[in-house]
Amino acid sequence: MKIEIIKCLQDNYSYLIIDESNQDACVIDPSEANPIVDFIKNKKINLKYILNTHHHYDHIGGNLELKKKYNSKVVGFKNDKSRIPGIDILLEDNQVWKANNFEAKIYHIPGHTSGHIAFHFFKENKIFTGDTLFSLGCGKIFEGTYQQMFNSLTKIKKLPKHTKIYCGHEYTLQNSNFCLTYDPKNLKLKDKIIEIKKKLNDNLPTIPSVLADELECNIFLRAKDLKSFSKLRVLKDNSY
Ligand code: ZN
Ligand code: FE
Repeated sequence: MKIEIIKCLQDNYSYLIIDESNQDACVIDPSEANPIVDFIKNKKINLKYILNTHHHYDHIGGNLELKKKYNSKVVGFKNDKSRIPGIDILLEDNQVWKANNFEAKIYHIPGHTSGHIAFHFFKENKIFTGDTLFSLGCGKIFEGTYQQMFNSLTKIKKLPKHTKIYCGHEYTLQNSNFCLTYDPKNLKLKDKIIEIKKKLNDNLPTIPSVLADELECNIFLRAKDLKSFSKLRVLKDNSY
């Protein structure tokens, strides 16, 4: 499977997962249809599935247009069936979604929204974490509790260390400043920041990140208990 990173809106990423054996593809969180259509144009890609991590507009904005244009099926969490436009296939926590040659384990990871899920393509060691885990950060808690978000991140922390993390936004540089402020002696983080700046200077995404690096550098994953996690989340919400 090949992953193509497609920039949408201001700082969103949508991802195309392409099965190179037959050019079937899934798109993760199409914020808008146009950048996806532009990418697919003149290629023999069959957009079979639209996968949504959660219902926010910057993750589902392209659903209906893409569904209509390519006759794709929309796939999302069953509890969010009234909030995900065009939903066809309802997923449950811990199920393995299998279609064509695609296979992903579904994790319900509430906190940012109550119905947020992650798609873990375990055979490829890639996870799509939407707005729950970012590189060097985590999502704001809009609908859930600190406990839920902490538990959701803990689930992701337990995956194999070489798992690649594909998240919903390019927030890495801003996040790195926050991490450095509260973890100023972390040498691994300092190295990562140099890498991040290099990529951004070359106009490249900082995504994917690798779980091993996040475990060492992401202050929200380093928080050892709910209390310290919550304290960090509050500080981040009040920082600019
Ligand atoms: Zn969101
Ligand atoms: Fe978002």
